Amino acid sequence: MRLTVLGSGAACAGDGGNSSGYLVEDAGVCVLLDCGHGVASTLVSLRPASEIEHIVISHMHADHFIDLLALRFAVTKDITGLAKPQGVLHLPPGGGDALGAILDAVCFPPDFLSSVWNVCEYQSGRSIPLAPGLSARMAGGVHYIPGWGIRLDGSASLTYTGDTAPSDDLCELARGCDLLIAEATLAEPECGPVKGHLTGAQAAELATAAGVARLMLTHFWYDADRDAAADDARRSFHGPIEIARDGLVIYV
Ligand SMILES: [Zn+2]
Ligand SMILES: [Zn+2]
Repeated sequence: MRLTVLGSGAACAGDGGNSSGYLVEDAGVCVLLDCGHGVASTLVSLRPASEIEHIVISHMHADHFIDLLALRFAVTKDITGLAKPQGVLHLPPGGGDALGAILDAVCFPPDFLSSVWNVCEYQSGRSIPLAPGLSARMAGGVHYIPGWGIRLDGSASLTYTGDTAPSDDLCELARGCDLLIAEATLAEPECGPVKGHLTGAQAAELATAAGVARLMLTHFWYDADRDAAADDARRSFHGPIEIARDGLVIYV
């Protein structure tokens, strides 16, 4: 299983400048997890957009999906006269209505996305076959809007938290994974009743509780101290820790 970080940033990204996006290649297919701003341009510098068989969106915040519009243009530029949709766009529950409202607001036709991808909404906890030997499963996290973590099981296992505060359900989803890609947005833990993100230390606590082999920290603000987040994480997780950067490739 090969993972390419296309975007490691939060809503306003530093580093390469991209928000969330991860390309996973396994079992002979390409899977894109999230498609925040900048991700489509980086993706098409690596491979044709039409080669992405599955796109899975964690939640409907713009930094996780807005470049679907750009990516759709890239697909039709690759393949003119597309006879029928190819590939699948897996949206969270309610994602179809949210995208429909956006298409309407920007005067794009209602079938702008569905003419290119088979669009469906996933259900929490249900396993989705992506290819022979590769499946996806989602579980709800804790965020300001409904958000889901995504687990892929193939030649290796990987869980991506999306955006979340500490979550028992995501801990169960990630149980025993080879790699946990965990958001580490915050320098300090949130106080107060409304929570939606993790610190590096909290990401590490999640990784330890889930018994994962390896941890990648991601979803950083433009001014985040990524090394400090990793230092905090090392106090609670004793396996290998990667700091996500746009363009980073690792094998799981
Ligand atoms: Zn985000
Ligand atoms: Zn979010």
